[in-house]
Amino acid sequence: LTIGVVRESAPGEHRVALVPETAKKFQALGAKLVLENTLGLESHFMDSTYEGATFDQEKSGIYRNSNLILRVAPPTPEEIAEMPEGSVLIGLLKPFEDKARLAALNARKITAFALELLPRISRAQSMDALSSQGSCAGYQCGLIAAARCTKFFPMLTTAAGTIRPARVLVVGAGVAGLQAIATCKRLGAMVEAYDVRAAAKEQIESLGAKFVDTGVSADGAGGYARELSAEEKAQQAEKLAKAVAMADVVITTAAIPGKKAPVIITVDMIKRMKYGAIIVDMAAESGGNCALTQPGEHVVANDVNIHGPLNLPSRMPTHASELYAKNLYNFLSPWIKDGQLAFDWSDEVVAGTLLCKDGATVHATVKQVLG
Ligand code: NAD
Repeated sequence: LTIGVVRESAPGEHRVALVPETAKKFQALGAKLVLENTLGLESHFMDSTYEGATFDQEKSGIYRNSNLILRVAPPTPEEIAEMPEGSVLIGLLKPFEDKARLAALNARKITAFALELLPRISRAQSMDALSSQGSCAGYQCGLIAAARCTKFFPMLTTAAGTIRPARVLVVGAGVAGLQAIATCKRLGAMVEAYDVRAAAKEQIESLGAKFVDTGVSADGAGGYARELSAEEKAQQAEKLAKAVAMADVVITTAAIPGKKAPVIITVDMIKRMKYGAIIVDMAAESGGNCALTQPGEHVVANDVNIHGPLNLPSRMPTHASELYAKNLYNFLSPWIKDGQLAFDWSDEVVAGTLLCKDGATVHATVKQVLG
């Protein structure tokens, strides 16, 4: 088994799919490593720390000699064209986004695993890249909010008088939202949070935050949220608007897998917000939870600052890469024996994560969404 890893090609992507610790572990299983020069530089992993690996400066040579390719973000069409027919590719491949990319992978008969599709079952927790990267993203949202807020987060008692703590509202309390809550709480803010899943109430309260009850519950398949009906959306908006109006900071992280992010913070709600308030919209990448979010931009409306940061885990590439690389190792290592890769295609985790194989897209939900 030869594992190939090249520098990520997506603009602004500083993470890396293999770190020295997992490089060592893959080699202990008998795998050879072919890596691009300065592979981990942007995550601060120097070439010399990948002991035992072979380095090359040509992406094409690395791909040609590899039968397992590790990625963070999806490869470009040019990169896919260089991958050997029948090779195995694993990464956060954005499976619902690009039909042409799937066609290119199938044209090369690539066996592709998209970690976004990994079943969220207990056994797969150590492989769950959405969770590891979601934690990084939520933490970054909390930090961005604190850094941009023109108020203290904690309560302060000073000689000049008492400062009230900042009020933070987190909308969407999945993995990222819960990390944003925890981060803002650690900084001393008064935190309220809201999610449509009933289970989120307890999780929010366990972090010491207050649950905003809108009376709308929308648990969907696989522990995810389902899309709300028009009536539910109206009921949610009415109750939520009050909490939004009182907040100094609103952090939004609501997502529905395979769908555009729901718009939850409307223009009308923004008009009712405090002057100088901040919105950090983590869902900017998938359309935004706020009606005025511009992906990757900072916009000001009615003196409310709306931030739409992109690729948040890449802002902390050392730890994000460490966690991600461990997720990849935990997914792959059970199937590497005596230096050979042999998947059990009937395994629930393998089958659930498999996107393409033998020239066809095999994942049922992806096929249904992309048509
Ligand atoms: P996600 O990124 O898909 O969504 C983020 C959050 O947005 C979710 O909590 C969702 O309920 C919420 N949301 C969606 N629409 C909303 C709306 N209109 N208003 C308010 N909130 C809305 O979710 P995620 O963080 O990846 O996690 C999804 C679920 O999977 C959670 O239940 C999580 O606890 C669970 N999970 C399980 C495991 C495991 O057992 N292995 C691992 C990770 C996550």
